[in-house]
Amino acid sequence: MSREKLKALEELQQVDLKIRDLSNEAEKHPTRLRQIEAERNQARAHLDAVRGRLADNERARRQNEQLLQLEKEKVRKWESRLNELKTPREYAALARELDIAKKTNQTADEEIKRLALEHGELKKQVEAAEQALAEKEAVVAREGAEIKTELEGLQGRMVSLEAERKRLLDLCDRSLVNKYERIRKQRGGLAVVAVVGGTCKGCQRNIPPQMANNLITGNEILTCPNCHRFIYAAEEPQAAANV
Ligand SMILES: [Zn+2]
Repeated sequence: MSREKLKALEELQQVDLKIRDLSNEAEKHPTRLRQIEAERNQARAHLDAVRGRLADNERARRQNEQLLQLEKEKVRKWESRLNELKTPREYAALARELDIAKKTNQTADEEIKRLALEHGELKKQVEAAEQALAEKEAVVAREGAEIKTELEGLQGRMVSLEAERKRLLDLCDRSLVNKYERIRKQRGGLAVVAVVGGTCKGCQRNIPPQMANNLITGNEILTCPNCHRFIYAAEEPQAAANV
């Protein structure tokens, strides 16, 4: 009688262990999804940053080109006026202004060349960042779909396991189930274990010989004195072979 009660409880335990494995498996998927989405977001942020630098470069180049054009016109105008000046003092003053303007032009010209070089480099970086983002987006699309399918499958299996659990619960002794739940929580999911050769398979410690005898002959439900799990006598391998 007691053996049958424990057998029902052990079947319940099998289902509970499967439910636990399934939950653990289901938890991995959202983690993976978050990871690949984070990588995608990072790639997107990088692309935005490189595009921003490219836009800055183009703006700086336009500004320098406008400055250069204005200064060149100024230089042309002043040079045509140089010969009209009446005094050496006026001439010297304008010549000095011209010198400054020419230097400004030179600086702007050099800056435009530098920006043009940088522009080519930034263009390459933008292209690489665009490609990296496309790859990350493909991973999210592909794996995201896979994960969704996988989760749906897990949910389906979970539903049938829960149904099986409910069916087994009705077969179990209510007061035993309560105790089983308590032990299960405290002992990492395993509450019903076999005793093999006098050793509890839950905690791997020997139980008293008299208790081992009672397990085989007696009709009460026993728990391991060490780990407090429900224990039952395992069928001897030899006896099982003879059946
Ligand atoms: Zn034990």
